Parts: sequence; structure tokens; C-alpha cells
Amino acid sequence: MPEVPTPAAAALLNSAAVSSTVSSTGSSTAPAAAPASGQPPAAYQATADEQGFMRAALEQAQHAWDLGEVPVGAVVVKDGVVIARGYNQPIGRHDPTAHAEIVALRAAAEALGNYRLPGCELYVTLEPCVMCSGAMMHARLSRIVYGARDPKTGACGSVLDLFAQGPLNHHAQAVGGVLAEACGDLLKSFFAARRAAAAEARRLAAGAGTDGQAGAGAG
Ligand SMILES: [Zn+2]
Repeated sequence: MPEVPTPAAAALLNSAAVSSTVSSTGSSTAPAAAPASGQPPAAYQATADEQGFMRAALEQAQHAWDLGEVPVGAVVVKDGVVIARGYNQPIGRHDPTAHAEIVALRAAAEALGNYRLPGCELYVTLEPCVMCSGAMMHARLSRIVYGARDPKTGACGSVLDLFAQGPLNHHAQAVGGVLAEACGDLLKSFFAARRAAAAEARRLAAGAGTDGQAGAGAG
């Protein structure tokens, strides 16, 4: 079974109306008063450009789906231009670190010839996990923009907020909820399709069993 998607998807199914969120030690784009502890952060209004970059990340997520991977995509932007792309592919690569953000970070670092990415922003369709959040801090990104929240593994405010840890994070601001509905719907559709395929496989296997056949390969 692939990485951590199933519980995340289940949680997403329960969070249909995903609110925009801001998570950061900075405050430049947080328009509302800081919420009480445990409450959803303030809403963030994305610009047309930001929505465009998130759509580019969604295109990457579709590539993941096409390969049977959980559909999460990311792009890295510098000076208003997409310089790197990535999509989730831990299964195909046999690599537990091959989340969309890590793939995009590696491509961006290669493109710039620098292991640090100051002045760069990363757009990703799903709230980053702990691993990816840590990698993005090491990369010295200026900003992270994510789409749907991930109540199961999100490390930008959902499960915990690494970017609010001053001793850990000196550089990056995290903003969430951009095209959250589209980003979440893609994941929900993926898992619904996968459940349907699994159910069909079980049905065929059961039919094969009653026919006295082996039913190999199902499930
Ligand atoms: Zn991750």
C-alpha cells in the first residue's frame, strides 16, 4: 500500500469546505487577527497569479494520478516564473521521500545550481508533511503556498505548525487554502476511483471463486 494517503483522504472527505489558512512566523499577509490556539488560522485571499501557479501544481498532480500515484503536485516559482515542477511518485521510484515537494525542490536546486533557494516560492496542492516542511526550511524558501489542508499529516498548522517554530524557521512563510476545493476534490476523486476498482476486483475474484477458478491477481 502506498505511503500515507488513505487516512489523509478519509480526513479530507470530512473537510469538504476547506478554509484558507495562514501559518507563519511572519505577518505580512495575515489580514485578520491571530486566531486562538487550536482554531483555523485567518483566511488568505490568493491573487490571480497565485491561483495560476496552483493550477500549474494541479497539472503536476494529474501526472501523478496518471501513474497511479496519489495526486499531489508542486511547482517552484522564482521572480514570477515557474523554474521547477514535481509530482508525487514514491511508489514508482521506490523512494519514500519522493513527495511532490521534494521532487520539485531537487529540480529547482539543480536548475539554479544552488542547494539553497532564497527568493523562491513553492506551490503544492496538499499541505506539506513534516519531511517536506523540513526540507523546505533547509532550502531557505521564502514562501510556501499550499492548497488543501491535510488533517492527518499536515505540518503547516493542521497536525502541528513547524513554520511557527521560531528556533526552526527563520525564512519561510506558509500560506494555505489556495484553490483548496479543486486540490481536495482531485484527491477525493482519486481515492473514490481506487476504492471502486478494489471493490470491482473483489467482486470479480468472488465470481471466479464460485466458478471454481483461481481468481488470482485480485485485490
Ligand atoms: Zn511530504
